[in-house]
Amino acid sequence: MGLIVQKFGGSSVADAACIRRVASRVLETHQGGHQVVVIVSAMGDTTDDLIKLAHQITAMPSDREMDMLMSTGEQVSVAMLAMALHAMGAEAVSLTGPQAGIFTDAMHRKAKIMGINPRRVWKHLKAGQIVIVAGFQGQTPKHDIATLGRGGSDTTAVALAAALKADRCQIFTDVEGVYSADPRIVKKACKLDEIAYDEMLELASLGAKVLVSRSVEFAKKYGVELEVLSSFSKAPGTIVKEEVKSMEDIIVRGVSADKDEIKITLAGVPDHPGVAARLFKDLAGANINIDMIVQNISAQGMTDISFTVPEEDLARTRRVMQIAAKSVGVHAVNVDTDIAKVSIVGVGMRGHSGVAFQMFKTLAEQGINILMISTSEIKISVIVRKALADKAMIALHKAFRLDKSRVARGKSAAKAKVRRK
Ligand code: ASP
Ligand code: MG
Repeated sequence: MGLIVQKFGGSSVADAACIRRVASRVLETHQGGHQVVVIVSAMGDTTDDLIKLAHQITAMPSDREMDMLMSTGEQVSVAMLAMALHAMGAEAVSLTGPQAGIFTDAMHRKAKIMGINPRRVWKHLKAGQIVIVAGFQGQTPKHDIATLGRGGSDTTAVALAAALKADRCQIFTDVEGVYSADPRIVKKACKLDEIAYDEMLELASLGAKVLVSRSVEFAKKYGVELEVLSSFSKAPGTIVKEEVKSMEDIIVRGVSADKDEIKITLAGVPDHPGVAARLFKDLAGANINIDMIVQNISAQGMTDISFTVPEEDLARTRRVMQIAAKSVGVHAVNVDTDIAKVSIVGVGMRGHSGVAFQMFKTLAEQGINILMISTSEIKISVIVRKALADKAMIALHKAFRLDKSRVARGKSAAKAKVRRK
């Protein structure tokens, strides 16, 4: 007998019929002799709807009240699932994040889990109950309810799995696992059997929205092996785990595109020590995550700095930059929303050379211009025009031999045209 944490996302609990299906799945696991803790997200698009509702009242709702509002979505789901299980004759109890002992910092709307006291969860488990916990929420030091950022239920699941030392953490979603690319765009994308935490982290932060980055960081830190699988089928999913040597045989594990970033260019920035520090200090102070940064060669003591931020932070970035730009004497702040970041990811890149060349050559053959480049040990990202992102992904997927038919022919095909170092 083991302890299993199962998380079901919004699309898996979108309506009453879906909730009943989830209940049967949970019950099946429970009847298999396991203790089960279930984490659920808000039904369907509830969270989006709640945000829209708030904006009917004001354009700038307070973060605390937004959390009060948004956290209701998950509370509807846990109650509904508990009722569905009761109707099937099962013993189940629903808990809010605070009731489940999830403690966060005070950063409303982007709160981080600081600790978990699972005493109450244990009590219910020991009584033989299925425990259903509201995802995406916890309690601040001031006993207020806080949410963990969009998609935060994944983080709740992984954090609880770590705190409970669960034997397995299953993330149920509406796709069959993690793919080599978004299958809605790249028709030849294939489901991966396994992926390393680091690859998943890059793909998650790059816009492959299967798992939220924070949850993968947590999983890596605490060694929680994750299984991503479909709540609509019984097919085996993708295991997200510690990297093993054999994973390096595949140079590129996945290709992704993030269309939710924007590029800010500061034109005419005085080129002397401390200026960049000043500009980026204010952005950090406003809790804005900067991704790529490029500084041009300076001419006449002036330079240009471009960087990318999530589109949702545009208004705040603009505000912060206008103030900072004035104080350091920047000429102009330009915003470019017509961009997308296309990336290739794989731990195998460490052991191979020529990967960047192969990527740029592929894009050149497609007539796709590169606006910015950034690299890490296991990832290469480029910024391109938004309308070209899909085309770039499809071409790269093929160039790195990730297309379905080729992968089926065996791993040797994955070696592509790049040389082993
Ligand atoms: N319901 C929240 C959201 O839509 C949390 C989640 O789905 O994980 O962002
Ligand atoms: Mg959701």
